[in-house]
Amino acid sequence: MKLNELTIKRAREGLRNKNFSSVELTRACLEQIKKHNKNLNAFITVTEKKALEDAKNADQHINNLAIGQFNNYPLLGIPIAHKDLFSTKGIKTTAASKVLEDYIPAYDATVVKKLKDAGAVIVGKTNLDAWAHGSSGENSDFGPAKNPWNTEYVPGGSSSGSAVSVASDMCLAATGTDTGGSIRLPASFNNIVGLKPTYGRVSRYGIIAMASSLDSIGHFTKTVEDSALFFDITSGQDIFDATTLPNPTESFTKNLEKGIKGMRIGFPKILKENSQELEYLGYFEIAKRLIQKLGAELIPIDIKHEECAIACYYIIQPSEVSSNLARYDGIRFGNNRENFGDEAKRRIMLGTYTLSAGYYDAYYKKAMQVRTLIKKDFDEAFKNVDALISPVSPTPPWKLGEKISDPLKMYLSDVFTVTANLAGIPGLALPIGFTKNRLPVGMQILGPHFSEAKLFQIGHAYEQATEWYSQKPNL
Ligand code: GLN
Repeated sequence: MKLNELTIKRAREGLRNKNFSSVELTRACLEQIKKHNKNLNAFITVTEKKALEDAKNADQHINNLAIGQFNNYPLLGIPIAHKDLFSTKGIKTTAASKVLEDYIPAYDATVVKKLKDAGAVIVGKTNLDAWAHGSSGENSDFGPAKNPWNTEYVPGGSSSGSAVSVASDMCLAATGTDTGGSIRLPASFNNIVGLKPTYGRVSRYGIIAMASSLDSIGHFTKTVEDSALFFDITSGQDIFDATTLPNPTESFTKNLEKGIKGMRIGFPKILKENSQELEYLGYFEIAKRLIQKLGAELIPIDIKHEECAIACYYIIQPSEVSSNLARYDGIRFGNNRENFGDEAKRRIMLGTYTLSAGYYDAYYKKAMQVRTLIKKDFDEAFKNVDALISPVSPTPPWKLGEKISDPLKMYLSDVFTVTANLAGIPGLALPIGFTKNRLPVGMQILGPHFSEAKLFQIGHAYEQATEWYSQKPNL
């Protein structure tokens, strides 16, 4: 196995035992980027020089550590990437928009800082739908990222580049944001693991805001265990984000091996109406059977107001977008507003409309009321089950260009993901197989607020019983 193909866990073992150095590991990732980024367009910025310097420092640090201190730096010397929506001090941060084409932040987002403090080496900033608006990656002003499993297909969005960079072994993990599915969808289209945490469990400080009441900050990894390990670092209270809550005292990797015997796991009753491809649902049926085989009880669940979720999301989200994007006026920093792309303009107009006097009550307020009902539906459901499973997307990855001229069609691909953001609950996406054309299929596990440890437990049990995670695209 090549060094860049390792999981975080394996790479850490190798670094600790001095089987290889962080410089060698980082070089392997940079080589992979050089070889394939032209084709996949996963990175907007590659920070080669700085990455090699940081890796060298990490190696020195490892050599100087006293025995037992290695665990204080859970990512020491590990190459990772950041979605180009995360402010990185001294490194260009574009949000994949021409508006911020040359913007260099003066500070790090809290999550970026936490990962640096843990020892991570940043190899670059990844491509996305501009401002995180999209489900396919095609809204980037710097051209779409491509799906490494078949470059004629979309990799899913908006955190497209982060997912592609991990799936194609250009780094060991990458950060992302999920406002309506932007981590779970690309994770499932790339055969990797993606975590959308509970709202408020990870600081949003320093991350370019999309829709502030829905944004949650998560990550992509190659395994569930790596996801838990990463979450140990990123989660927790931040004085710069008043919506964050304290960290639990226990590590998220603690329950991994406990299995799912005796758990009650819900699944949606009405899936068929929401799916555009019935054949595709077969993969979910297989996943359900495996969950049962692992000893959990399956229980059909009805999230009553789920059918309103897309409408509700596409009112609340643009309302908040229109407010958040008002700050990019081109006066203090960034280019002027003419540089906004069509999708950002569409959302600014929609949001301004739904918030305007006379329409506010009919749209925004009504959507907020429905949002509360959706949250209540989940609260009810979780009285009866430990977690819920569902497909991530109603279809497998689609071809580049297929939906881009039909925004409504694009919005509908979020039908299974937006509910978690509206309710603020966590979701873990993981691989469950491949279509006949060898395109990845994923499933998501949703749980009550702050149930990430349990999601990792279920996800790990599932992953251990399959081998999808070990399959790699043929680049
Ligand atoms: N696809 C959704 C949208 O376009 C979600 C985006 C996201 O999660 N950032 O709004």
